[in-house]
Amino acid sequence: MANALKYPHMKIVTPCNGYVGRFAPSPSGHLHFGSLVTALASFLRAKSQDGQWLLRIEDIDPPREVAGASDSIMRCLEAHHLFWDGDVVYQSNRSDLYNYYIQRLSDLGLTYCCTCTRAQLANLQPSKLCHCANQNIRPSNSAIRFRHNHSYQSFYDELLGDVDFSKHDMPAHFTIKRKDGLFAYQLAVVVDDLEQGITEVARGADLLDATLFQLALYQAFDKPAPKFLHFPVVVTQPGKKLSKQNHATEVNSNDVSTNLINALGFLGFSLPKELKQESSQNIVNWAIDEWDLRKVPAITECIDNRIGQADSI
Ligand SMILES: [Zn+2]
Repeated sequence: MANALKYPHMKIVTPCNGYVGRFAPSPSGHLHFGSLVTALASFLRAKSQDGQWLLRIEDIDPPREVAGASDSIMRCLEAHHLFWDGDVVYQSNRSDLYNYYIQRLSDLGLTYCCTCTRAQLANLQPSKLCHCANQNIRPSNSAIRFRHNHSYQSFYDELLGDVDFSKHDMPAHFTIKRKDGLFAYQLAVVVDDLEQGITEVARGADLLDATLFQLALYQAFDKPAPKFLHFPVVVTQPGKKLSKQNHATEVNSNDVSTNLINALGFLGFSLPKELKQESSQNIVNWAIDEWDLRKVPAITECIDNRIGQADSI
């Protein structure tokens, strides 16, 4: 962490006064229908407001990465006319930046080193602290945990309205750098959203509870949080998100129009019959014009079974 202060400021995109959104896939597999829906929804949300839509590859977990997945995701987005603004940001290039922000939290007394195993932390009541919190543990072979001084229980979502987690026992602290030296999702995503000037985080509702963790980090950094918007996620059965882990098949870029029509249908938009023979580019253009968040179903399916899992060890 000694070199971290070399990076006091590292803006990637100069925030404009307008909308800046993003799509941030992890390269743990190819783009499947569920991720295409999220990409399309966030793209339409940005483009319907003449905003920017940035692409960030969240490749901070090499063991979970699939070779060639980043390129495959980008080619698939391009095939569906979902063109991003600016350069692609790769999280794997930004370790110094993440360390700099961790140092800021440490300087504020908001971190501690933790040597607990995953099992030990899993057995801990969420509202309780592990014994490491009050010990002066050396950083080697330990995780860094964030000691937040304000935990959030609810927030306003642009689609779902007030989202209340007060009935859930949210973890008192959470990991921002893992024992194996990898950065935790919560830390990296907040740093990147801040540095890229994101004005609204529009993503799948499977990340709804992550918002509470992220709000605590914005508060600690003394920065205003972006708006949050969580789209419905495609499920294979109630409570089960369609994902790379349950063998979702790769989107076939040879059938772009059908994919777009199906994704739009999932989001509540029905293409007029006479437009179904139009080019896929025209379908996207139609969708930008027609985009209306009020048509999108406000569904939080597949949330409850993952409360608290937003922490990583
Ligand atoms: Zn511990």
